Amino acid sequence: MKPIQMVDLKTQYQKLKPAIDKAVIDVLESSAFINGKPVQQFAEAFSNYLGVKHVVPCANGTDALQIAMMALGLQPGDEVITPSFTYIATTEVVALLRLTPVFAEVDAKTFCLDPESVRKAITPKTRAIVPVHLYGQAANMEALMQIAEEYNLFVIEDNAQATGCDYKFTDGTVKKTGSIGTVGATSFFPSKNLGAYGDGGAVFTNDDELAAKMRLIANHGQSKRYYHDVVGCNSRLDTVQAAILNIKLPELDNYIAARRNAADYYDAAFANHPNITTPYRHANNKHVFHQYTLLLEGIDRDGLNAHLAAKQIPSMIYYPVPGHKQKMFSSFNLADVYLPVTDWLTERVISLPMHTELDEEQLSYITQSVLEYAPATAPSPKKGF
Ligand SMILES: *Cc1c(COP(=O)(O)O)cnc(C)c1O
Repeated sequence: MKPIQMVDLKTQYQKLKPAIDKAVIDVLESSAFINGKPVQQFAEAFSNYLGVKHVVPCANGTDALQIAMMALGLQPGDEVITPSFTYIATTEVVALLRLTPVFAEVDAKTFCLDPESVRKAITPKTRAIVPVHLYGQAANMEALMQIAEEYNLFVIEDNAQATGCDYKFTDGTVKKTGSIGTVGATSFFPSKNLGAYGDGGAVFTNDDELAAKMRLIANHGQSKRYYHDVVGCNSRLDTVQAAILNIKLPELDNYIAARRNAADYYDAAFANHPNITTPYRHANNKHVFHQYTLLLEGIDRDGLNAHLAAKQIPSMIYYPVPGHKQKMFSSFNLADVYLPVTDWLTERVISLPMHTELDEEQLSYITQSVLEYAPATAPSPKKGF
């Protein structure tokens, strides 16, 4: 059996090696390392894939969120509502820009922002909502967009974990996550669903003016060389990464299918388990399984992690400390923030290996190993939140 990894980028690369090697060598030979042709080509191809008018490539997903917030003109003291149950980048940029993070609750099934909790968190200072499509499942965008419209708020979608996810509105319209809000931000970190071989990111929008501002901000606020209109930053997708992404983008839907196949295998193995809840799949979206995350009740999570590790199976906790309990935000007076669903999830989630190259032998070994530690006959059945 091939060694099991959380993410197997090496096998994935082997399958595309000739095309990727050629694309990289072409960049080296052109020596157009910054803003070479592949960057624009990728921006166009990605905007077609997403069905969005403008894609502005940048250096990473964290920058993408920052550029979006800067371009929207958010000012120090403005409140930005985000989930606490997310990767730190989402909220870190809020604090970095001296905006005020307001942590809202997530839905106990989808693990994404709960619209009712968002509604309760709105104050006269609220300017934006940042839904995160966590683990590859879409947040309830229909309800969130309604709230945003009602209160005139920007919606910045953190799509870093959900590239390729389709979201269906009740009227039947289907859109890619990240293309629904005011602006979408994503990451091409190697392990993401569409990963480069280094850092990369992008922001996207249908708003012409906002797109122009984001382009300006990502390039030192420069409209003409050495003429700087606004304070910006230096955030570019380099040509080598764009060339690699041009090879990988056409594979994205196959990659998603492979992830969903692995998820189906896991789901079947743990179906009806008295102590394990498999990922909820909301009917209005196509989960793209950036992570495959189980919810454990009545199973010692550290014990399971150690049992799997002893059998050379990695497992991870995404994320062990929610945002509202991070030291980083200690200046924000968060002591009274009470997010019981977030806390409950934080103590119970565990993610199994999930990538495009998992084969049946590996999946069988992983699921059997989990069931060895947590047999489906255990007492004290789960109750849910
Ligand atoms: C990965 C990730 C980011 C940041 O992406 P980087 O490219 O690593 O900066 C932001 N938000 C979420 C939810 C992520 O998973």
